[in-house]
Amino acid sequence: MAYDFDLFVIGGGSGGVRCARIAATHGARVAVAESRHWGGTCVNLGCVPKKMMVQASEYGAQAVDSHGFGWNTEPGTHDWPQLIAAKDREIGRLNGTYAKLLEGAGVTRFEAHARFEDAHALLLQPGPLDARFEPRRVTAERIVIAVGGHPVVQPHIEGYELGITSDQVFHLPERPRHITIVGGGYIGVEFSGIFEGLGSEVQLVYRQLLPLRGFDEDLRTGLHDALLARGIGLHPGTEMHRIQRRADGFLCTLSDGQAWRTDLVFFAVGRTPNIRGLGLDRTGVATAEHGRIVVDADSETAEPGIFAIGDVTNRQNLTPVAIAEGHILADRLYGGRPRDWSFDTVPKAVFFSPPLASVGLNEAEAAERGAADIYLTRFTPMRHTLSGRDRKTLMKLVVDQASQRVVGVHMLGDDAPEIMQGLAIAVTAGLSKADFDRTVGLHPTSAEEFVTLRTRTRVAGPA
Ligand code: NDP
Repeated sequence: MAYDFDLFVIGGGSGGVRCARIAATHGARVAVAESRHWGGTCVNLGCVPKKMMVQASEYGAQAVDSHGFGWNTEPGTHDWPQLIAAKDREIGRLNGTYAKLLEGAGVTRFEAHARFEDAHALLLQPGPLDARFEPRRVTAERIVIAVGGHPVVQPHIEGYELGITSDQVFHLPERPRHITIVGGGYIGVEFSGIFEGLGSEVQLVYRQLLPLRGFDEDLRTGLHDALLARGIGLHPGTEMHRIQRRADGFLCTLSDGQAWRTDLVFFAVGRTPNIRGLGLDRTGVATAEHGRIVVDADSETAEPGIFAIGDVTNRQNLTPVAIAEGHILADRLYGGRPRDWSFDTVPKAVFFSPPLASVGLNEAEAAERGAADIYLTRFTPMRHTLSGRDRKTLMKLVVDQASQRVVGVHMLGDDAPEIMQGLAIAVTAGLSKADFDRTVGLHPTSAEEFVTLRTRTRVAGPA
């Protein structure tokens, strides 16, 4: 049977665009449908605008820090609409870049919503990107679902609809003077830093005792201290119970009875796959908890010829993972070139100020597998000896005792994500503590501490 396309990708986000582009460069006839915005969550409502806002939020503190170096700079006031407009201009440019990349590779683009009619046919209909799109039916030999996810809301909370999620936070008409953020994960922590840095009073509500469950405990403790040092109000071990509208904002009440007035409640309690309206019931694609699409090691769903990559599979919901999955799939299907990418050593970063970053196993995970040597250091970085800011850097190596391989690296401190990208190569390559020890430091940096740690702090796991 002749199909319209060899490969049809649903979703023009980071993973979908990479998959389409690589497949097309291998000679496949490829199309992509995107209904909302080219570049997906990362470019429009995630990593990219978030990072710009983190950068914006750091200038005020830097102006204050400069006094210790002899400057008399004043922090001044921040213009929120100007930041949003500048950010939107850059995002608009990136949307165009994504579209051009696809066209340059010979990929057919549809600004439409795709819905399965059967395992090889899709109905394309108008979506927010092009309300006048003429509906049409297309067929493809293979289909990749790369539709991403969306923020979870909490309907069990009275007044939950009065709050916002990360889908709205990037386009607020003005900055709230007082914001209450629910959720101690990536988004809750990052936006606590953004709003505090821009001058808002921030209250952070989360149900664990420490934020960022899943990260190394020393990093979580260090982050807790850093949040307090930034003046962010912390409410661990609690959940939002009720939100009520008041003449001057909202009254929010927590599960432990605490209550306060706030200008805005921001829910950052996780994300869930975008499977609604896809027509998966017309295919054999299987889903599991929270609607995540189940795939095998080759990203293939239960329906042969239909694949899923990125956040819709709810595995590691990170842009570079979606990109890697899309690239590997395209290479395998059309390039005759299986690739070997390591998903065990995906580096992770949380862009608070100071940021934190990790690669590999945390101490508890390593201890479960066997004895681990732990090397830990905490110090005041050179910048803050003069700035006078109370900001510690924390660095940690987790070394498998039997093999002496460095299996985990963790850092909280300025430039942690930039440093961790390099160290992720070392951990992916399976380098040993001896390799770190024989590496000459780069002086004066904080990063050199990673190659000068000589004294073991403790042994974790079975003795
Ligand atoms: P996370 O999964 O990181 O954190 C969710 C937070 O919400 C956790 O603190 C969780 O608590 C809490 N939570 C979940 N359900 C409830 C509930 N019913 N009641 C109260 N609290 C609840 O999700 P985010 O929304 O912060 O971010 C979504 C995803 O996007 C991240 O997991 C990550 O994959 C990605 N992301 C990555 C970034 C980066 O790479 N820098 C930045 C932003 C997002 P608990 O721990 O108890 O479950």
